[in-house]
Formats: sequence, C-alpha cells, structure tokens
Amino acid sequence: MYFTDFDFEDEVLDALDAMRFEKCTPIQEQTLEPLMEGRDLIGVAQTGTGKTAAYLLPVLNKLCQGGYPEDSINCIIMAPTRELAQQIDRQLEGFTYFMNVSSVAVYGGNDGQRYEQELRGMARGADIIVATPGRLISHINLGNIDLSKVSFFILDEADRMLDMGFYSDIMTIAKQLPKERQTMLFSATMPEEIRKLAGDILTDPVQITLALAKPADGITQQAYICHEGQKLGILNSIFDNESSERVILFASRKTKVKEISHTLKKHGFNVGEMHSDLSQSERDEIMFQYKSRKIDMIVATDILARGIDIDDIRIVINYDVPRDCDDYIHRIGRTARAGTKGRAITLVNVEDQEYFKRIEDFIEQDVPKMEIPPTLGEAPAYEPKGKQKGGSKRRGNNGNKEKRGGNGRNRNNRKRGGKPAGGEKPQATKAANSEKPKEKSPIAASQEGTPKQQGDKPKRRRPHHRNKKRGNAKGGEGAAPMADNK
Ligand code: AMP
Repeated sequence: MYFTDFDFEDEVLDALDAMRFEKCTPIQEQTLEPLMEGRDLIGVAQTGTGKTAAYLLPVLNKLCQGGYPEDSINCIIMAPTRELAQQIDRQLEGFTYFMNVSSVAVYGGNDGQRYEQELRGMARGADIIVATPGRLISHINLGNIDLSKVSFFILDEADRMLDMGFYSDIMTIAKQLPKERQTMLFSATMPEEIRKLAGDILTDPVQITLALAKPADGITQQAYICHEGQKLGILNSIFDNESSERVILFASRKTKVKEISHTLKKHGFNVGEMHSDLSQSERDEIMFQYKSRKIDMIVATDILARGIDIDDIRIVINYDVPRDCDDYIHRIGRTARAGTKGRAITLVNVEDQEYFKRIEDFIEQDVPKMEIPPTLGEAPAYEPKGKQKGGSKRRGNNGNKEKRGGNGRNRNNRKRGGKPAGGEKPQATKAANSEKPKEKSPIAASQEGTPKQQGDKPKRRRPHHRNKKRGNAKGGEGAAPMADNK
C-alpha cells in the first residue's frame, strides 16, 4: 500500500515525498486508517517496523487540517529514554519541515540551559511535546505545563516504560489530560501489566499486532560458544578479517562496558562508550561522533538497545547474553534496519548458555555456532541444559592457525591513533560539524547526529502554500476532533 492511498493533506504528502517514504510498512498499513478515523489503538510492534511514522502521520495530518488551539499543547508523546525521545523528535522534525507544527523534546539532564529551553518551548505552546515520564512529571509538579487542551496522547515502547517503573507516573500524567482525547499505546510485548495500563487509559481501542517480536529477516545471527577469557581473542579474530566500523557492542553492566571499552582502546580499536554514567551532552557527543564516523564502534549498555535509529550499523555484538529475550531482539534489531542486511554476533560463556538457549527457543531458531580460533584453546561444548565441564571439547577448530591469529594485528581497515586515551572525553569537533549538511533537508533534519535546539522555541517553519488557519477545536462548532470515539 502507498501513502497516496490514504487521505492525507498536501503538507503530509509533501513531507512523505521529501523523506522519500512511498510504501507503507506493515504496521503503517494496518494502523493509519483507524488512527486517522480517531480510534484509540494498541500497536504491538517493535522498533524498526516504522511505528513512529505510523502514529506521527495521523496526528500531523489532523494538526494540518486545523481546528486545534494554536497556543496550546495538542499532543504528548511519551518515551522511556532520552535517546528514544530525541529519535522521535528528529523524525518529527523531518516530517514537519513543511508544516506549521511545532514540537519540543522534554527529556531531562542536569543542564540548566536545556531546562530553560524546555520551559520556553512549553510556555509558547508547542503543538507536540515528546517527553520522558520523569521529566514531564517534574514540569507538571512545578506548574510549568498545561495539559488541559491535549487531544493526542501517545505512549511509545510502553513495555519498556513499565519495566523502568513508570506506571504511576504515566497514570499521573494521564489524569492531567482531557478525557476526550485519542490515545495510542505502542509496545513490543503485551504482558499483563500493559493490558492493565491499556484498560486504564484507552477507550475501546483497536489492537493491531504485528507478528510477535522476532529478529528481522535481514539479520544473520551467529554465536561463539566460549569461555569468558576467550572473548577478547574472538573479537580480535573477527576484526582481523574485516573492518570494525559501524559496530555496536553491548554488555549488560556499565562497569563491564567501561572495562571492555578501555581494553579495546588499548588494542587499537576506535571506540566510544555509552552508559548511564555519562551526562546527556556526553551521550549526544558520542552519538554524533558515531554518526559522523569519527568513531568506529560504540560499546554500550542496553541504554542503546532501543530507539536508536542509525540505518547503517553493520554488526551488533553481544559481549554477554542478555537475560531478557526482548533485550536480545532489541539489541540485534539495531542492525538490518529498514530492510537492509546486518550481522549479530553473540559471545556465550558457560554461565550464559542456559540464557542463550532460552533466546533460541523464544525466536524459534538455532543460531549457528561459529568456530573459535584454534589459537584461543579449547572451547566449551554447548550443553545449555546439561552440566558443562568447561574446556572439554573443542568447537570450531578448523586447523587454519595462520589465518586467524587473534592477536589484533593485520586490522587493515581499522582506524588507529588520533583518538583520546581510555577514559578521556572525546573531542567534539569542528571537523565533525563541518560534515553536517550545509542545507538541512527534511531527511537531514530527521537523521541529524546532534539534537536540535529542542525547546529553544517551538518551530514555526516556513509556512506551507496551503497552510490553513487553525482555530480553536475545543470550542468550535462540530470541530471537536475526538468527539466521535469516546
Ligand atoms: P521506527 O520503527 O519508527 O523506528 O522506524 C525505523 C526506520 O524506518 C526509520 O529510519 C524510519 O525513518 C524508517 N521508515 C519508517 N517507515 C518507512 C517507510 N514507509 N518507508 C521508508 N522508511 C521508513
């Protein structure tokens, strides 16, 4: 199905055209119509499926049609993490390039300047607020924000928000909103708690379930069954033979991330790290450096597993096995985005075998087990349900010792030097900035490596040729936009 098959306003069609979106993804195909009709909706879909556009486009279409108060907040989008909030806001910026619709991202951080920007943006009545729950609550508590005119309430990655303990925050926010509104809840999974939340905040929702969370077809999955001490050697051997550019390496704990990042730097890898000990500006900078290819690889906790939209990640490495099957899907879903191809490599130590087997059962696939370089010694057998003795059986010794040294030499494609030593803050960068496109297009706006000045002032971009005058929906005759679905 094509976007032109839907009854979108010219402004929206122009935006889609500029973003080069032509065909709907399956989630868009199924959700656009009920959402454009004003129905509440539960969308069970993971990131990478196009769910952001699925909920943004109907809202933008309605805002373009007019009838909503110009100086009030019309839409609240909630996201579990700053990274996802920024990501949504960037996509929004791409779409609204030709529209008279403004947005502010409200996601916290201990930056006074940011806070002021958020305040100004909210005071000026941005049409759309993209927010993390904690930060929005603090603005509500301080009386900074008026939610009484909101017509659209969207929860993105709702399961993640509940995992992070935001149930009561979400309910507090929902209670501030008008009863007459359109509510959309997107979640990768539908555990009982999500059903309960949906029951509390949605009215007669349509439920669209995309096939249960499964890895995208374009991802080639591989696993190395190994001892913990062999992992670094395996990484070296992988990148002996290919570039370490466009790689994300996940580890479960931030101490581990720091340790691995330090070790990889010592071994000549061009690495940045991402975890919750970093300030927002440090996180932004790492993302910017990665997107502008100043660093090859990011070593990250699961903070980066969801919502980060970088289209050309080649390889995801799980340095350890996530305990949660969803986290595995989300981590490896960073590669092979939007129909491309990628590789996901998991290093499975003896202790993690049982967890890896659970993941294989969950995704209903046996992930191919790769041979570890013979120079690294004996590997354990893969006996997730049995008792591993450790080092009892060699896997993958193909006898080709010369080819796979595992010593970090011969990394032809790897950038070396010119990077800060471990622990030093990476330099940002005139050079990096000079790579930014000179004239920002809608696509550039949506993909930009650094966040825009969210909150500085609500965007009022150049008016569209068919820009309509927007009146007050709530008071206007026959204009109550959500009246028919509640
Ligand atoms: P999401 O699942 O919303 O994070 O989207 C994943 C990626 O797919 C983003 O880079 C979107 O810009 C892109 N995308 C979403 N819908 C479409 C579409 N219909 N055509 C092309 N790209 C799309």
